[in-house]
Amino acid sequence: MFRKAFTLYADQIAMPDTIRKPFCAELKRWDHSPRDAAKVAEKYLSTFDFTWPDGLVFLREYQGRRGTFKQLAALFAGCVYSKHRFFDQFEMAKRTSRAFPNLILSRGPVMQSCPIHGDKEGIILPVYDNYWQEYPLRESVFCRCRVRQTK
Ligand SMILES: [Zn+2]
Repeated sequence: MFRKAFTLYADQIAMPDTIRKPFCAELKRWDHSPRDAAKVAEKYLSTFDFTWPDGLVFLREYQGRRGTFKQLAALFAGCVYSKHRFFDQFEMAKRTSRAFPNLILSRGPVMQSCPIHGDKEGIILPVYDNYWQEYPLRESVFCRCRVRQTK
């Protein structure tokens, strides 16, 4: 699942195939050390040629907030981890869906509502509802949404 999360964001910045494997493997090791993870991200992101405004989707969006290269690298790592954790949480929710069949969607620790899920804040849907597939959480840098499992 880590690989899947990594690939999702690697695709968004058109990362060359040649660095994906080593980058992914190294990043995976630093899940609980954001500073080291950011350093790894910085190292690999600086090896390929792109311009922040043109080559990127999500980082370009973020650039509006004047992120430095360092911050953007940290952001990349953070997005991958966050998506990875969400995959795990979702798998767990499936396993325990008999006792707790629903998920409640809430806004994460942010002021603004999510551009993707904002209109559905507070909604309660079954774990297996298509909504979660059609509008997956944590696939944009602006999505900080959370779900909690409930009866
Ligand atoms: Zn969201």
